[in-house]
Amino acid sequence: MAKKKALIFGISGQDGAYLSQHLLAQGYEVHGTSRDKELTSFANLRRLGIIEQVGLHSASLTDFRSILQVISDVGPSEIYNLAGQSSVGLSFGQPVETLDSTIFGPLNILECMRLLKLDTKLYNACSSECFGNTKDIADETTPFEPRSPYGVGKATAFWTVANYREAYGQFACSGILFNHESPLRPRRFVTQKIVSGAADIADRKIDRLVLGNLAVARDFGWAPEYVEAMALMLRNDEPKDFVIATGETNTLETFVREVFSYFSLDWRKHVEVDPALRRPTDIDWSAGNPRRAKRELGWSAKVRMKDIVLRLAEAEVKRRHAVDV
Ligand code: NDP
Repeated sequence: MAKKKALIFGISGQDGAYLSQHLLAQGYEVHGTSRDKELTSFANLRRLGIIEQVGLHSASLTDFRSILQVISDVGPSEIYNLAGQSSVGLSFGQPVETLDSTIFGPLNILECMRLLKLDTKLYNACSSECFGNTKDIADETTPFEPRSPYGVGKATAFWTVANYREAYGQFACSGILFNHESPLRPRRFVTQKIVSGAADIADRKIDRLVLGNLAVARDFGWAPEYVEAMALMLRNDEPKDFVIATGETNTLETFVREVFSYFSLDWRKHVEVDPALRRPTDIDWSAGNPRRAKRELGWSAKVRMKDIVLRLAEAEVKRRHAVDV
């Protein structure tokens, strides 16, 4: 029997790398795109040791022709769109780039699928940032009140996917994923900034770590588990949107305390809060209810915040040791 083919837009990112690993293990032929495959290092695919096993292509999300070309060349049965400007903080500084990549990427893919009359299934990466402050624990029926250009873009893409699904009968769905972490995340993201900052302090390279608002609360999950939910969504009988979360929310201060305690440090002696690092608008409290995913996909998160801290810190120590020897 021919192998199932998956095409991952944004294969160089954290989720793209873990999803590739997951689909390869399931016997898929995996292809993926980067804006310029000649210039991209694909460090995450190399780190997971799978760079040789995937087909790499150049494609720009905002360039209809290049999307049409790669979809025609690969002929995938499943498309995962994980590409786009993914930093909430950066979206305040680059709102046009963020909305452009977040909205027109999925729109171009949906239009290609429609014009080519493909019965390919589409997963689009949506985000808990669409909910804004969750007054209660958010599920698939909670209205969107985004508080960043990133959230606004993701909410627009969510409704675009829903509209195409309804209007043209396409198998297209959005995963409304809450924060998910791994050692593959760059230092620009606060969790990695905290882990590598604490490790630097433990190694006496620096003495202080400057952070923004520590009172914000997030539902932190483990990325390798979250990509499994993406694949399950495309294997569901019907195209549906799902909230993917652990169901447990912790403040950033708790996260900081746990990381510093791993390195036997008292965070209060080393962490400085700089109000200038606060975002113009932020989400104070974010909590997700993954009940539908458990009931209909059989998916639930097993790795919780304390384990995530342990895994991130251990990976950081291992990485430093590997560099030192
Ligand atoms: P990454 O930032 O690691 O990867 C996204 C990829 O998109 C990059 O590798 C890059 O590929 C490409 N990209 C970056 N900027 C742009 C741009 N301006 N225009 C077009 N392409 C761009 O993200 P993650 O893997 O962490 O996340 C995957 C998806 O899931 C993203 O859409 C993200 O917004 C969403 N998401 C992530 C969450 C998380 O906690 N990680 C939570 C909820 C949603 P290249 O440079 O090779 O072109």
